[in-house]
Amino acid sequence: MLSQFIHRMQLPREVIVGKGSLELIGSIFRSLGFTKSALLVSGEITFEVSGKKIKEMLRGEGLKVWEHIIASNAPTINDVKMCEEKIRKLKPQVVLGVGGGTKIDIAKLSSANQGIPFISIPTTASHDGLSSPFASIKGLEKPYSIMAQSPIAVIADTEIIERAPYRFIASGCGDVIAKLTSVRDWKLAHERKNEYYAQYTASMSLMSAQHLIENSHLIRPASEEGLRVLLESLISCGIAMGIAGSSRPCSGSEHLFSHALDLIAPKPALHGEQCGIGTIMIAFLHGLDWKMIRDTLRRVGAPVTSEEIGIDPKYIVEALVIAPKIRPERYTILHEKPLTHEEAFALAKETGVIE
Ligand SMILES: [Zn+2]
Repeated sequence: MLSQFIHRMQLPREVIVGKGSLELIGSIFRSLGFTKSALLVSGEITFEVSGKKIKEMLRGEGLKVWEHIIASNAPTINDVKMCEEKIRKLKPQVVLGVGGGTKIDIAKLSSANQGIPFISIPTTASHDGLSSPFASIKGLEKPYSIMAQSPIAVIADTEIIERAPYRFIASGCGDVIAKLTSVRDWKLAHERKNEYYAQYTASMSLMSAQHLIENSHLIRPASEEGLRVLLESLISCGIAMGIAGSSRPCSGSEHLFSHALDLIAPKPALHGEQCGIGTIMIAFLHGLDWKMIRDTLRRVGAPVTSEEIGIDPKYIVEALVIAPKIRPERYTILHEKPLTHEEAFALAKETGVIE
């Protein structure tokens, strides 16, 4: 087999971050050679707020533009199939995902399945999926993200992202700070299970978290400067995953904890909010400075307790216990030493996640 000697990386070709960057969409399309047609995937409200404008701009460039509006908020495999159907019928040159995580994930996976390039136009900065090759879809047998494709371009217009509730930005910070523990888990898997560990991507992932921590004083409501810091971090996390060809550098036991909450909590919180809280507890287990992590999350206005995310403490404890079973093959500190209910309770209490 040749494949084990080949390392394939997927990277975006154009990444544009800043106020009004969407205005450049015409020139980006021209430089990428998309001059004929595009399918715009979006939600109802997002289409009204941003999608229509994008459609008009592209039409002004002479492109034929269709839209595919997704009504549901939780992306299921059915949404992906419907989107694929539309791609097959219309044969667009490129698929645009305009929205928060859901719409981007549907656009990303359906375009990948149909072999069409994909452009990511995020309207929130709540997690690193906006630039990664992975998609998180419900209705698959696995509750975590799967390989799709890297966006060929990411256009992150801070003017649009700023309009979303601040909670999404704080959540994005949680997803970035999670890299402190995900990289530790990866290293542990390398030491214990001889899993492939890439120093370069691990450093990139850690650097993103460091960048966010060092500039966390800038991240607050209506701070464009702070939002740029977050976007830079999220985008480089996505790129680290594209280079690694795996979500490993960006997703460890703190992510398994969040996936477990998604499965058992009656009303789960945002992905990044849950990952941030998971990071506080997993950092404690790794002997990292968990108080600094908690302080940073607090500084940016992200939740740090079960009460703040509206999840009953019993689900926090249960999620810590079942987390390693979500992905038995992804070795982490929770696989090294699975927690009993008593230990999980003590950990959550010690780190102030539960009262
Ligand atoms: Zn994540």
